[in-house]
Amino acid sequence: MKNDNRREQVEQPMKKENSHKSGNTLWILLFTGMVCMFLVMGLLCYSFVGMKKELQKNSRTAEKKDIELSETISQMKQEIQKLNEKVLVQEQEIADYKKNAPVQGETAQNPQEEAAEENAMIGPPARPALSVDQLQPGQIIDSSQIQGSENTFFKAYEISEGDAVYNRIYGKSYYENENIGLQDLRYLKMLHYNFNHEVQVGEMIVNAAISNDVLSVFQELFAAEYEIQSMRLIDDYWTGDGDSSDSNSIDNNNTSAFCYRQITGGGNLSNHAYGRAIDINPQQNPYVWSSQGQLQWSHENASPYVDRACGDPHVIVENDVCYNIFAKYGFSWGGLWSDPVDYQHFEKES
Ligand SMILES: [Zn+2]
Repeated sequence: MKNDNRREQVEQPMKKENSHKSGNTLWILLFTGMVCMFLVMGLLCYSFVGMKKELQKNSRTAEKKDIELSETISQMKQEIQKLNEKVLVQEQEIADYKKNAPVQGETAQNPQEEAAEENAMIGPPARPALSVDQLQPGQIIDSSQIQGSENTFFKAYEISEGDAVYNRIYGKSYYENENIGLQDLRYLKMLHYNFNHEVQVGEMIVNAAISNDVLSVFQELFAAEYEIQSMRLIDDYWTGDGDSSDSNSIDNNNTSAFCYRQITGGGNLSNHAYGRAIDINPQQNPYVWSSQGQLQWSHENASPYVDRACGDPHVIVENDVCYNIFAKYGFSWGGLWSDPVDYQHFEKES
């Protein structure tokens, strides 16, 4: 017993020491566990903040992309709108073209040409292939159809016995004579602006020797958008003889050149008989003479324009656009004669 007690006495402190040691270990473990837990929580928080930042960044990028896409879509919508408008304009142009061409008496388009036109509608803007040969005098054409190729619509043609022009003039403004033959004349097709400022097809017969000059004159008048009311052969106003037909043509304010007739007032052949004289807008540019100190003129419709300072744009005055263009090509003007004075008349003898 005594030994046991002693052993107990020895074992007791040992037990106490052991339990003290195990208490410390527990605290250390607990402390380490806590530290680890904090570390884990810290790491978790750090990654959570990082993820949140990343998400915010992504969201901002997405918003930016969204705005960019919206802008692109609205730009595309605007482009579609513009394209639609262009299509409408082209459809209108094609409708206008179909309305004006082919012209009376000419052959209709063949299916291949129609197919080509349809293809052109899909491709770049179509330029209808108008040709001066197709055009009829008096025809009004859309200026967009000739843009860039205006000068090809001014053309001279020879006249031969039995052809369409010959049949129109024979026995009227032309007949066999000793002074001028068909080979000396040229039939011209040209464009002019009429008094409504529409582009209209005109025609004229002039001497072959001056036909290129006349084409140049009328090309320049056209480029200057100079207005000429009517430009048809005098034969369209034929009333039976040269003088009365000339008078009728003047009453209709028709611009014309060739007519095999004597000079106004009789006597020698007029320069019109050689196709070397052109009368421009005769209503606004009358032939006047004085009689007993009084100014005279034949055509009642010319009365408002006898006063050359009336300011009408179709009244020709020295050094205006019409005068200057004719003068440039060597034409002399009847407006500079003393008495009579022929304001409509330009001529070129050689
Ligand atoms: Zn004349």
